[in-house]
Order: sequence, then C-alpha cells, then structure tokens
Amino acid sequence: MELLSHVIATYHEVALKGGNRGFFERALVRNVRTALDGLPVAEISVPSRIVIRFAAPVAWVEVHARLATVFGLVGILPAVRVGGTYQQIEDHVATHLDELRGGTFAIRCHRSDKKFPLRSEEIARRLGQFVKDHSGMAVDLSAPEVTIHVLVQSDGIFVYRKRFTGAGGLPVGTSGRVLALLSGGIDSPAAAYMALKRGTRAIFLHFHSAPYTSDASVRKVEEIVRILNRHQGTSQLVIVPFGDCQREIVSRCPEALRVVLYRRMMLRVAARVARRMRCHALITGESLNQVASQTLENLAAIDRVAHLPVLRPLVGMDKLEIMQYAERAGTFEISILPDQDCCTLFVPRHPSTAAKMRDVEEAEVNLDIERMVADACAAREKERIGPDWASSETPIALQL
Ligand code: ATP
Ligand code: MG
Repeated sequence: MELLSHVIATYHEVALKGGNRGFFERALVRNVRTALDGLPVAEISVPSRIVIRFAAPVAWVEVHARLATVFGLVGILPAVRVGGTYQQIEDHVATHLDELRGGTFAIRCHRSDKKFPLRSEEIARRLGQFVKDHSGMAVDLSAPEVTIHVLVQSDGIFVYRKRFTGAGGLPVGTSGRVLALLSGGIDSPAAAYMALKRGTRAIFLHFHSAPYTSDASVRKVEEIVRILNRHQGTSQLVIVPFGDCQREIVSRCPEALRVVLYRRMMLRVAARVARRMRCHALITGESLNQVASQTLENLAAIDRVAHLPVLRPLVGMDKLEIMQYAERAGTFEISILPDQDCCTLFVPRHPSTAAKMRDVEEAEVNLDIERMVADACAAREKERIGPDWASSETPIALQL
C-alpha cells in the first residue's frame, strides 16, 4: 500500500480571474478539509496550488477517493516534498531511479517561487542530464513513457510522477443553496449530483406515502444522501408524508390528472420548505418526455405553482446518459433496489400526457390546497446526515 505525506491538488485558473479568487479558494480549501475529515491533516496551504501535508503517512487510495469527490479540483497529485535546493531534487530522484519503467522520459518543471536561483528550464535540463546519465533512458519531450514533474514553490520543492483527474465543476457553496427533490429513483440523485457539481450546496427533500406504503423509500433516500454528501459533508434531509394529500386528490379529482396534481402539490410544498430553509431553486430529476408527467405541457402546468426556479439538470439527457451519471455519482446501485415510493401509490391507468391548465385548475377547485400544503409542511421531519466513505475504495468522480 502506497503511503504519502503530501498531496497537491490543482484547480482551474480561469475560474479564479478577477475579484472572486479568494472566495473561490476559501470554499475549495474548506471542502478539501471536509472531504479529508478523519484523516491526519496537519496543514493545507495555497501558495499557487493546494498543498496538503499530513501529520503521519496516509494511504494514497483513501486520500485519492476522498479528493476525487471535491468539485472544483482538476488535478490530484501524489507528491513528495524533497526539500529546498536543486541538489535535494537530484538526490531524491537518484534513490528512485530503479522504479522508472520505460525507454524514454521527460522532466517537466514549474517554478512559482521566482526567488529560486534556477529557472525552470535550467532545472529541467540539469535533472534531465542526470537521469539520462544514470538510467540509460532517452529524452523524449513529446511522448515520453515516464514523466517526472518538479514543482518549485515558496513552501518547498515537490516531485511527482502521476497526475489524476479531479472532479471538475465549481466548489460546493459558491453557487448558492438549493432544495433537491429526491424520489429514490435513478434520475433525481443524478440531477442533485449535477447541481452540486455546479457549486450549489443542497438540502434534500423526500415525499413518502407511509403508512400507505412501506417506508423503504425513506431508507433508500437516506442512503443516497450519504453518498451525495461525499461532495458537501453533512447536510439536511427533509421528509414529508404525502399519502394523505394523494388520498384527497384520488377521492376528489379526475383519475387522468392525478400525476400532474400530485406533482403540483409536491412543488407547492417544496417551494414553501425552500423558502423557510433559504434555498434559491428547486432541483428535480425530470427529463423531457421521459414519462407521462414530463411532457412540455405537463412540466408547464407543474412549474406554475413553484414561485422559484425549478432547475432540471437532466433535461437534455436520455436514460442511458442519466444512468452513467448515476453510476458516476455512486447512487445507481442503491436506486435500483426495489421499493414502493409514493409514485407507485394510486397510479392512474391512463395518465394525461397534456394536461390543460383549465382542467387542472378546475380539478383543484375541489381541493383545500392551502390546508393540504400547510398540513404536509407541518408534518415534515428533518434529519442531519453525514457523508458515507465506507464504500468508496475507488474514486467515484472520474470525468466521463
Ligand atoms: P426519479 O428517477 O428521480 O424517480 P422519474 O424519472 O421517476 O425520476 P418522476 O417520477 O416523474 O420521474 O419524478 C420527477 C421528479 O420529481 C423526480 O426526479 C424528483 O426530483 C421529483 N420526485 C418524484 N417523486 C418524488 C418523491 N417521492 N420525493 C421527492 N421528489 C420526488
Ligand atoms: Mg421515480
């Protein structure tokens, strides 16, 4: 098992231009710290990249799995700090020459500490000569089999040979707070993952129909939240009983409109919860035309009651793409477990695919909407849920 004391993480310069740099970096460092919770982190500094120093050697697989969940990072480098002089770089490389496998190599040097006496090119040339003389490998700058990277920073010189891709996106917490509606199905966790990837912090909301159904969907959603929380640390899950609302809709409204009416009721409740929890948008896993309730007409009928933006990150994706994102998010395996969520309760045989606003509004005249929304909100429960690292041996946020 590979152990190491330093890891360097890089982020994308373009996002840092202008006055937002400090805000972005602080959020990123905070999220790195959260992701490494429980590991012996001694210090995190940001001279130009994020340098993480551990108080005791840690397993690379563990650190890699954790850092691969941090949105905003583009590169993760298992590095060795070799000291502060050129000679120390050479001494370090000398003791690892027998690990280099290949016929060709290149040295890549980046010097952010402009006070260092040697320029990048000189370091690369001298070290290249040294490796060539002592390893028998030939220099190939365009397609080397082995690359030795040297970073000269104000806090020391680092050497690394491998670079792993980070999760990309923006640091969680830099794009505001959203309320993500999770059903327990495949799609909504993928949608929440994408919202987190764009830098939002998410609170989660689940409607269940217990005691009319089992509470299996609640257990599933708790599990899904634990997985998604790898990207943001502890968060809140709001659980709302929805069976009574459904029963009223079933007993008072036309069967074909049920699904649209359920959704409108869900969004009203969600919008109210969002306002109370200071969320600025709702996130759903709807795609266009995937099922009866997701035609453009029905989405329009659903949106009218929301009073805040309803973001649908999956709108342009087909089912296979959504499944890939769910795999990447690590939620797919949980989502496919069988359960009875509230959508399986009182499903009409022929749901309307193009609900007319007039019909919908006419049907809702039979409902005491304000009371139903207030009752559902009042019955909500909240749970604080932490991240689950137990099942993350391998990085789960690789780029497609
Ligand atoms: P999913 O795979 O997420 O269940 P779906 O393709 O089954 O989505 P619908 O059943 O039409 O689609 O649900 C659309 C969206 O409405 C879901 O993606 C989710 O965001 C939200 N939603 C549906 N049911 C619930 C629920 N029980 N609790 C919270 N949100 C829900
Ligand atoms: Mg569903």
